Amino acid sequence: MRILVIEDERKVANFIKHGLEEERYIVETVADGITGLEMAMNNQVDAILLDIMLPGKDGFTLLREMREAGVNTPVIILSARGTTEDRVRGLDLGADDYLPKPFSFEELAARLRAILRRSIPEKSTKLRCGDLSLDTVSHMAYRGNTEIELTSKEYALLEYLIRNKNRILSRSTITQHVWKHNFDPDSNIIDVYVKRIRSKIEKKDGNSKQMLQSIRGVGYRMREVQSEDGING
Ligand code: CA
Repeated sequence: MRILVIEDERKVANFIKHGLEEERYIVETVADGITGLEMAMNNQVDAILLDIMLPGKDGFTLLREMREAGVNTPVIILSARGTTEDRVRGLDLGADDYLPKPFSFEELAARLRAILRRSIPEKSTKLRCGDLSLDTVSHMAYRGNTEIELTSKEYALLEYLIRNKNRILSRSTITQHVWKHNFDPDSNIIDVYVKRIRSKIEKKDGNSKQMLQSIRGVGYRMREVQSEDGING
């Protein structure tokens, strides 16, 4: 999930960025209204967090212009201007929610999950591979009903593998998608992450088929294996 943060106060922007990255979102920040509007129009993001008092173009104007242009990305307004009049104005201009500053990160994260759930059909927030499932809004992973604890990068890699399940993915393809740029292709980091993910998702009974397969000399494949749970003779 990609989130655009339009906020000129660097401290606040960094606070939100770091918090959301820990929650495994991809976050872009921009500090003025003009660039903010451009990015809202051109970049495919899943939600926007929008400050009101911005250099270049204020948040209300930005929101109105973006809605007039037909961009319906969910928006949460974050603003110290928390009067009823301001909130009503923001909501009337097409904001999905309004959070007065100062706010707690937990509340921001919860409201963000709520608008993402409303804007994305239920089915597309769940990814499955056998009895392994991922919730792409909350970024939780489960094997059967057991929650699996993953770090941000482990989650990102696993989500990419499951989105492409049953396909063989080369190391360089995985690197481009999960690690983006500035990455040494000879590094063995993917192998390190694969090992960690396996230790968390694979069953340790020795009989179950491995889900995350190594394809020698090429890369990896996430294989859909039928669960052996729940078979009654
Ligand atoms: Ca501001």
